[in-house]
Amino acid sequence: MTAAQLVQYLSWATYVTIFVIVAAKAMRSPRRVNIDIALFFSLPMLIVVFTLLAPPAGSLLSYLVVILLLALPYMLIKLVDDFADVPKWLLYTSEVLLALIVVGTIALGSKQPDWFVTIELFYLIVFLAYGVVAFARQSQRASGITRRRMRSAAAGSIALCLVFVFSGLARAAPQFAGLWSTLSQLSSLASGVSYFLGFTPPEILRRAWQEPELRAFLGRAARLPRLPDTQAILAEMESGAAASLGAPHASVGLWSEARQALSFGVGDEQVDVTPTPLSAVGRAFLNQKPVFSPNAPRDNPAVADALRKYGATALLVAPITAGKRKLGVLTVYAPQAPIFAEDDLALVQLLADQAAVVLESRALIDEATHVRAQEEVTRLKEDFLSAAAHDLRTPLTTLVAQAQLLERRAVRSPEAPADLAGIQKVEKEAQRLKTLVLELLDATRTEQGRLVGTREEVDLTEVAEETCARNGTELHPCEVEAEGPVLGCYDSVRIRQLVENLVENAVKYSPEAGAVRVKVWREKECNCLSVADSGIGIPAEDLSHIFDRFHRGTNVDDKRFMGMGLGLFICKGIVEQHGGRIWVDSVHGRGSTFYVALPVEVGKIDADVT
Ligand code: ADP
Repeated sequence: MTAAQLVQYLSWATYVTIFVIVAAKAMRSPRRVNIDIALFFSLPMLIVVFTLLAPPAGSLLSYLVVILLLALPYMLIKLVDDFADVPKWLLYTSEVLLALIVVGTIALGSKQPDWFVTIELFYLIVFLAYGVVAFARQSQRASGITRRRMRSAAAGSIALCLVFVFSGLARAAPQFAGLWSTLSQLSSLASGVSYFLGFTPPEILRRAWQEPELRAFLGRAARLPRLPDTQAILAEMESGAAASLGAPHASVGLWSEARQALSFGVGDEQVDVTPTPLSAVGRAFLNQKPVFSPNAPRDNPAVADALRKYGATALLVAPITAGKRKLGVLTVYAPQAPIFAEDDLALVQLLADQAAVVLESRALIDEATHVRAQEEVTRLKEDFLSAAAHDLRTPLTTLVAQAQLLERRAVRSPEAPADLAGIQKVEKEAQRLKTLVLELLDATRTEQGRLVGTREEVDLTEVAEETCARNGTELHPCEVEAEGPVLGCYDSVRIRQLVENLVENAVKYSPEAGAVRVKVWREKECNCLSVADSGIGIPAEDLSHIFDRFHRGTNVDDKRFMGMGLGLFICKGIVEQHGGRIWVDSVHGRGSTFYVALPVEVGKIDADVT
């Protein structure tokens, strides 16, 4: 047996085997595409069988072999139509041409003129070339396994085209007949194998082709629950599922208890689907089993138009379930049925299970965040109540005691002169109470971002000097360092409150005496102010929280230094609502310097100003 014969027998054996496999599949699952594939492969199988019978030239069988050969491109175009839409006119043209050529073949008998053979070859090559282009274009549009299948189909069409090209060459250059025949047989073998892989890839190959996308999806799944919102998670899951199955689309429908519907996000639209046993989606959700519907519009004609609009002809749907809770469904869909195979159902279920894990993790994270937020709110309320109660109690107690004392004295000796010192003490404590209450109100305004009111021209140097004059004492001399007025357009009341607060703190937290130095200067884009003291300083661990509401330094105790921890919070609010920045430099035990940078013009200042 020569090598050429060996290749020929191999190629015949391949075609017969492929036919047996696809025919069995078509009988098991008589879908249009399976029948088309079986019909397509029945042609080479019959050609092989008839050729083996060695029909004499001009016999009926020899005509049949030619007709079967001519029918190949037509059957291929029908297959292309199963995978992608072929224009109707092209289908009809190929039918008419096929009929004409078959009639011509029979009419002309065994002595076909060259021009007719050329027309035959031309017809074969052109329509097969169309198959090549159509499958190649599909492979460009598709991804994952579908892309690989379409490439195989395109390769099969190229090889089949070559079979006829070599047949043509055999007529044109008969001196190399042996070579052309071997090449033609090789092409035929290659085309059989490529078509087989493209149209009905064995399960093991499907798995291998799906693996890269599946692996990528599962790799990403672990970090999905941490994406910013559920929408982003769904989008990632959908694109991962579509890529793993080589389908153009996938969509997750989440069950909404309130609407009693599965809610799908399709593009920008939200589509609610009520699960009914009529639809594949409904069946999968209600029966909690994956469903494959090769023709969803036919199954559920009531929504056929909507399904076609979304390109959802073939559907794979799997329920997403966590324990006993039905969370929704994962739907992978395509405009053409042959994209999927029945055994893809297991894969869709696997992806849906993965989606359930991701959604459950997300729900747990959301719940934990919610609980933490609740705890934070409760803690803040408790902080507030205890700080407010504690701080309001001291002046109130003094106030009540002093008022009672004054009352007793007045009752005992009504004629005695008024106790001026006692009344002044009452007033001082009442003032303190008022300050505390105002601080609480300001803290609320800070939260709401409405601390800053009408702006006017303010001279920071003047504010610093006035504040120093009010707060400076012999133990705490307050000095201002400035080269002249530093003007800006600010809320003058709030700016005074800011400087007052910083200077007061400098005095308060320097219990062993010490000077307070206020510096005011102008930089390129900001008006700056600093307040420095040589007091107790701030421990390093407190520095990042010192401007937080109610935060007090760990080196500060309530008895020695009264306060609620709201002053700096309000200062930060004042500065930031003016578009500026406030920060502190401090060494525990050595003193602190607070810096403020305010924009010269209204608006934000550069965050790099230090
Ligand atoms: P309060 O003085 O009422 O506690 P503040 O918000 O003004 O509230 O200050 C918060 C905390 O910052 C203070 O409790 C203190 O620990 C620390 N602090 C503020 N200013 C100074 C300063 N000049 N020196 C040292 N620590 C300071």
